[in-house]
Amino acid sequence: MPLVTGVYIGLGSNLDDPPEQIRRAVRALGAHPGIRLKNRSSLYRSAPMDGARQPDYCNAVVEVESALDPFGLIAVCQSIERDQGRTRGIHWGPRTLDLDLLVFADQRIATERLIVPHPGLAERAFVLYPLLELAPDLDVPGVGLVSDLVARCGSHPLECTPFTDSETR
Ligand code: AMP
Repeated sequence: MPLVTGVYIGLGSNLDDPPEQIRRAVRALGAHPGIRLKNRSSLYRSAPMDGARQPDYCNAVVEVESALDPFGLIAVCQSIERDQGRTRGIHWGPRTLDLDLLVFADQRIATERLIVPHPGLAERAFVLYPLLELAPDLDVPGVGLVSDLVARCGSHPLECTPFTDSETR
């Protein structure tokens, strides 16, 4: 089966030991027969988008190769979210695990179920900083170069700092 390269998935968690939730989700992605893990960013800490009313998030981005099409891949992501106890509550509310399909090679998709590249990508420091670590030269289809996007979101109010070793064990 041909593998599609240049596929990026964003991960976020702010409940139940967030760094461990991210590590577990990365393992689950890598264990899927249709997915090959290529690279993983550091774990980043970011403040919630709605201010301080919920715990900080742990975020990361992984680069994968996919034998699945984008819809198959998002279905796998959603089943991993379910396995790790994600319940859909308040929009932007606290969550055990959130997986977003950020980029799928050069594809541009706009359906009810799936929008690729992910529409929030260009504004979210917690996506852009981990992505910068993996792919500064990536040209996100219809959006722009990752390094330019990061430069433009430089004054973003979101904090986005690497977790320390002791926090990630
Ligand atoms: P959220 O609650 O933020 O995880 O949003 C999940 C919903 O967004 C699901 O219904 C997905 O089908 C939809 N969605 C659309 N595009 C994407 C994408 N690129 N990555 C993840 N979810 C997406």
